[in-house]
Amino acid sequence: MILISCPDCGPRDETEFHYGGQAHVPYPEDPNTLSDEEWGRYLFYRENTKGIYAERWVHSSGCRKWFNVLRDTVTYRIAAVYRPGEPRPTLDGGSQ
Ligand SMILES: [Zn+2]
Repeated sequence: MILISCPDCGPRDETEFHYGGQAHVPYPEDPNTLSDEEWGRYLFYRENTKGIYAERWVHSSGCRKWFNVLRDTVTYRIAAVYRPGEPRPTLDGGSQ
């Protein structure tokens, strides 16, 4: 069981949240100019990081707001939580 700290509601059980995939994936500037392969890459290709990974979560059973999480994919430990639009936090101690 993971405790996730919603920026607005505080720590809550993971069952109140839904995972939203990798964070910081920019929408293409002009999607009409992309080839099918480039569009497919935007839609379906994501990093497969072992270690700290930036991901989106929504507090679906609470405030229903989206936010970003830096989570270690090996230990499931959450290293940071931050709102969309805020810069990705720098972690002390290295691996990002
Ligand atoms: Zn919340």
